[in-house]
Amino acid sequence: MGLTVENAVVDGECLGVRCEGGTIAALGPEVSPEAGDERLDAGGAHLLPPLVNGHTHAAMTLFRGSGGDLPLMPWLEEKIWPVEAKLGEEDVYWGARLACAEMVRTGTTRFWDMYWHPEATARAVNDAGVRATIGAPLFDLNGSPKKLRDSAHRSLEALAGFGPRVTPALAPHAIYTVSEESLRWIGALSAERDLPVQIHLSETEREVQDCLAAHGERPAFYLDRLGLLSERTVLAHGVWLDPDELALVAERGATVVTNPVANMKLAVGGVFPHHAARTAGVAVGLGTDGAGSNDSLDLLSDLKTFALVQKHAAADPTAIDAAEAWAVATGARAPRLGASALEPGALADFLLLRANSPELGIGELMADLVYAATAASVAAVVVAGEVLTRDGEVPELEEIVARAAERARGLGL
Ligand SMILES: [Zn+2]
Repeated sequence: MGLTVENAVVDGECLGVRCEGGTIAALGPEVSPEAGDERLDAGGAHLLPPLVNGHTHAAMTLFRGSGGDLPLMPWLEEKIWPVEAKLGEEDVYWGARLACAEMVRTGTTRFWDMYWHPEATARAVNDAGVRATIGAPLFDLNGSPKKLRDSAHRSLEALAGFGPRVTPALAPHAIYTVSEESLRWIGALSAERDLPVQIHLSETEREVQDCLAAHGERPAFYLDRLGLLSERTVLAHGVWLDPDELALVAERGATVVTNPVANMKLAVGGVFPHHAARTAGVAVGLGTDGAGSNDSLDLLSDLKTFALVQKHAAADPTAIDAAEAWAVATGARAPRLGASALEPGALADFLLLRANSPELGIGELMADLVYAATAASVAAVVVAGEVLTRDGEVPELEEIVARAAERARGLGL
């Protein structure tokens, strides 16, 4: 028994998709349902790979709309860190459920997360039916390396056993909040156990200046010297990476995830050099960052901003085209992020976008997807052969919104 989607369209061809055991069993014009299958009539909707949110802090939906209009460090020190010190598991669970609901409704089925009580986010991911790579944020500048190591081990243990939808990761917060000794230790542990590493890098110019002053080298070279720049590493931001750093990141096979909306909201003053990064061979993905600094998790919307800010910064409308922007947002330009393939044997994760919606009815599909599509174009989202949303309806949404709001109020947000 599986799911069969009929009347979906790929490259102008009408076809069916049969999903069984969480993967795509068959795909093509001749595919028809088997006895007992759940059936979904796509009604001519476009069959597309889902979006991959390469960097977020899902449960920060609780902080939505309460960040003030502050620069990065005062925002963290005055608005975020004091409240985070009080966060409990249930806060994170309902914040992450809200995040998953928002991401699913806007076409994202997989995300990379760095947040407290990671096991609560993992539980939310499984309950919502999506996929995520999750790590607890690791800090030690005000604590001790021993505490950081204990916290890393604890979070890896807590994240084990959630099944195939949850991938445990190490998530050192940044080079300015983790000591050199601990960064080295994290690099060694990542290599020994083949664990992904997520870290904020080169988000502000001050971070680069401070790194140069403290270590005599730029952030990517510093990370590399500590053994933390590898194909397992996902760097969030990378706004200020210079050409030598981009060449190094490419050589090491690390991924950069750009978060254009969060960068503009916090006014970091620069734009990720996408064209230079791709020319150098860097793997690139797209992220929203947390709702505290965005304030939305709608990657379909941020995808447009990403393309526009790249064009604007380069004063060149050809700096990035729609197909490239779409490829970045679906993870196709960063093999480690987990892009979905639409072929037999692949995970049965995909989107159906209404071909007859006002936004997609006219024009070239790629251009429409990047510059015009909204959540209203999303007809259905499928993960592991399970329909997670149809026409914007997410099971238990009312309760999720109410419980998350209650948790936010309880934290004084
Ligand atoms: Zn972040």
